[in-house]
Amino acid sequence: MNSQTTMSGMPDLYAGDRKRQVLIVEDEFVNRELLNAYLENDYELLFAETGAEALETIHARSETLSLVLLDLILPDINGLDILRRIKQDADLTRIPIIVLTSDTESEVESLNTGASDFISKPYPRHEVIMARIRRSIELSENRDLIRWTERDHLTGLFNRDYFYRYAEQYDLFHAEEPTDALVLDISHFHMINERFGKAYGDEILRRIGAELLRMARLYGGIVCRREADTFQVYCPHRTDYEALVRQIADTVNADMLGHIRLRVGVYAEVDKRLEMERRFDHAKDAANSIRNSYSASVAVYDDRLHEQEVFAERLLDDFHSALEQKQFIVFFQPKFDVRPDTPVLCGAEALVRWKHPELGMVSPGVFVPLFEGHGLIRDLDNYVWRETAAQIRIWKERFGRSVPVSVNVSRIDMMDPELADTLCGIVRENGIDFSDLHLEITESAYTEDAKQIVEVVSGLRDKGFRIEMDDFGSGYSSLNMLSALPIDVLKLDMMFIRTAFSGAGNTRMIEIILDISHSLSVPMIAEGVETEEQMLTLKKLGCDIVQGYYFAKPMPAGEFESFLTR
Ligand code: C2E
Ligand code: CA
Ligand code: CA
Repeated sequence: MNSQTTMSGMPDLYAGDRKRQVLIVEDEFVNRELLNAYLENDYELLFAETGAEALETIHARSETLSLVLLDLILPDINGLDILRRIKQDADLTRIPIIVLTSDTESEVESLNTGASDFISKPYPRHEVIMARIRRSIELSENRDLIRWTERDHLTGLFNRDYFYRYAEQYDLFHAEEPTDALVLDISHFHMINERFGKAYGDEILRRIGAELLRMARLYGGIVCRREADTFQVYCPHRTDYEALVRQIADTVNADMLGHIRLRVGVYAEVDKRLEMERRFDHAKDAANSIRNSYSASVAVYDDRLHEQEVFAERLLDDFHSALEQKQFIVFFQPKFDVRPDTPVLCGAEALVRWKHPELGMVSPGVFVPLFEGHGLIRDLDNYVWRETAAQIRIWKERFGRSVPVSVNVSRIDMMDPELADTLCGIVRENGIDFSDLHLEITESAYTEDAKQIVEVVSGLRDKGFRIEMDDFGSGYSSLNMLSALPIDVLKLDMMFIRTAFSGAGNTRMIEIILDISHSLSVPMIAEGVETEEQMLTLKKLGCDIVQGYYFAKPMPAGEFESFLTR
């Protein structure tokens, strides 16, 4: 191989006149001179006369060295020790080493310790030495190339494509063995990146990768990084994943700042007739089923999940025709200003329902997350916004007044570059005011890509839309961040009402959030208020607006009109 050789796929480090670097570790002057004479035309040569010097050079040039020629007998350190140290060091082990020795005994030991080859002393003919050097370098570069294409560069694990190939091979050798497919990811990894920085996040991923690999070596199986913070494991069936996951998390957390939580989806005893990717899809679905759970860390794919999947596929298939046939219906739930003695209607929230001809009423809690994951939410939301704006217009004409209606804007909609144009168009086409249409944006959207969201929301607000931060308290906004956010109303997450008014609950958290809303000078809406006790308590604490079953459930437009005529 000459210095012009290019290797497809990997950057060509040796284009042009660059020569490969070879380190010669040899304490005898004559031998050094001889090797120098043989090699200097083809290689860039470095020399070390002692073991210490050799190790220093190898560490300093770990990225660029193509080969080390290592004499086993050196004045300070035994050559075999040097070999051992290099082969045990993850950063150095790729460097091929040819051992120079006059002792045939050590040849075998050198090869066992990881030497690529040996050259016996006295030195053989020039051509023999050259051929051995060339071959060692070539083999190691080919191996690098294979690693380069097969592996994920951060963790050193297989990448997804190669993983599937190896999994197929794994099956060939374990055809009769019950096997599990696992998908493993980290809860709120983006928050770890955001709080501690990307380098820290990378370190966590590396550690998890290393732990998984260790387990796979111990118990059998193969591992890969699927993408971002998601790993896959294909291994002999077992039932103690809870314990294993705890062990991995404990090891990774041991001396790190942010504590990670792992979430694992298991498709146990896979059906080997299924395509490999589908098996991992099942595991992924299992993992997703506990996405919002704080207690579960392992979920197993089962019949229930399978039925849910069939159901979900049905909904996805039916979406477009349902939209055309206007099967989606917008309901309205009133909001009441509770500050006056008698509560006053002050607005409504638009909530979509699907009146499916065969499945009956389907709740948005089921189809909204599904559509968000499959790129359909934008079309649905556009439809809901249009229907809502048209309704506001009708009420305006019929009753001579309008109540502002808030619509939900999915976090996925926030990525749509045409969002502002779409919304402005809807307002204009229906002849309503910007202030008639409030936009509810869930708090967690703000934490995902804070900067981008803040820009989009500020733009909408400048146009005149009022922004309600939905599900407040469920996300991770810091106080610092909040004061910089463009919002007009906070909507307290329903969970706070549930917890405050259950058994041993108290209203402490609600009071804290009310303090926040006061310090931001924005009104607070409490939703999910179901009883008079809850309503009166909230009123007493200083909550401005209340929405919930206590006043009314979401209802069709026709029914809602009775609130407008009162
Ligand atoms: P959300 O925005 O937090 O809406 C509040 C949910 O609480 C609604 O559920 C509402 O019916 C329910 N609710 C209201 N008062 C009470 C109460 O007193 N007690 C209880 N237990 N529940 C109450 P719904 O209509 O099933 O909607 C669920 C979620 O689906 C919504 O949560 C929202 O995130 C999403 N969603 C609904 N419509 C749309 C839409 O048009 N577009 C988008 N992107 N998402 C929507
Ligand atoms: Ca909402
Ligand atoms: Ca909400």
